[in-house]
Amino acid sequence: MQLSLADVLEARKAIAGDVVRTPLLPSRFMSQQSGQSFFLKMETMQPTGAFKLRGAMNAALNAPKGTNTLTCCSTGNHGRGVAFAARQLGMKAVICMSSLVPQTKLDGIRALGAETRIVGNSQDDALADCRALAQSPGVFEISPFDDPYVIAGQGTIGLEILEDLPNLGTLLIPLSGGGLAAGVALAAKSINPSIHIVGLTMDRGAAMKASIDAGHPVEVQEVASLADSLGGGIGLENRLSFAMCRDLLDEIVLVNEEEIYRAMQTLYYEDSHVAEGACVVGIAACLAGKLPGLKGPVATIITGRNVDMTQFTKIMMGQDVHLDGYLVKGTRYGA
Ligand SMILES: *Cc1c(COP(=O)(O)O)cnc(C)c1O
Repeated sequence: MQLSLADVLEARKAIAGDVVRTPLLPSRFMSQQSGQSFFLKMETMQPTGAFKLRGAMNAALNAPKGTNTLTCCSTGNHGRGVAFAARQLGMKAVICMSSLVPQTKLDGIRALGAETRIVGNSQDDALADCRALAQSPGVFEISPFDDPYVIAGQGTIGLEILEDLPNLGTLLIPLSGGGLAAGVALAAKSINPSIHIVGLTMDRGAAMKASIDAGHPVEVQEVASLADSLGGGIGLENRLSFAMCRDLLDEIVLVNEEEIYRAMQTLYYEDSHVAEGACVVGIAACLAGKLPGLKGPVATIITGRNVDMTQFTKIMMGQDVHLDGYLVKGTRYGA
């Protein structure tokens, strides 16, 4: 199965009524820091608080005839997207998650009327549960990243960025299972092949990076991170997102928890945006000097705002954060 720009254009038409066309905002501070015009694509403004609604909605609209229940495994945001899509289409939703899912995300999913199931300590455990469920008639599983309609849906972000910023030089994309990066890179490079595309993720549990280095999908251990939405593997039977990321991303850059912590503070104190750790990996890499010689203008996707407020407040106050055995030492912003 080969996806093309036409699939992304189709997706855009399909989801237009349910998904917000989000603004691309300039960041004065990041423009100063990077020496290039620097823009933020505000997916935090989706009704579910994250971009995943785009792919989930597109896949739900294309579910097989006779589907009455949508299911998925999720680190939280995809589940909320699927729950939202199910409600729009008058279907049931059953969302399978691991114990790593933050309470806020669970609450958001339940508020949409979906059933939630917590199974095991990793995305793999949640996936196995959801796969079993999808054997029942009328139940349709929507992968968070390895589905053509999901990838095409996420790709609509790329279309919007290029409409607003046709001379885009570099695109910084948060990377986990790679549905977002695959779709956005497909759209962007179809329009202008010379755009430099960087995938960014945390250094602990970087499944796509390890897989591309190995030449095939590999498993990595999943650990708690400030970028909790970037957790989980890419699936050993990956059909689409692995090959697309391998072929379309120019590089993958890793950031550590301390860099994510600082970047969350930066986005809040300099630009006043509340955003998840997963969103700031591009900003983190830039501030850490890991993206030398950036070709401007630069855009990054601020992918979601579904933060655990207790943890978020601690970070803004400069306090320590304990991540399941790993200590991220606190520092006051500007100190
Ligand atoms: C899912 C998610 C990502 C990563 O998307 P992939 O398609 O899995 O690579 C990034 N940020 C947020 C907030 C997410 O929910």
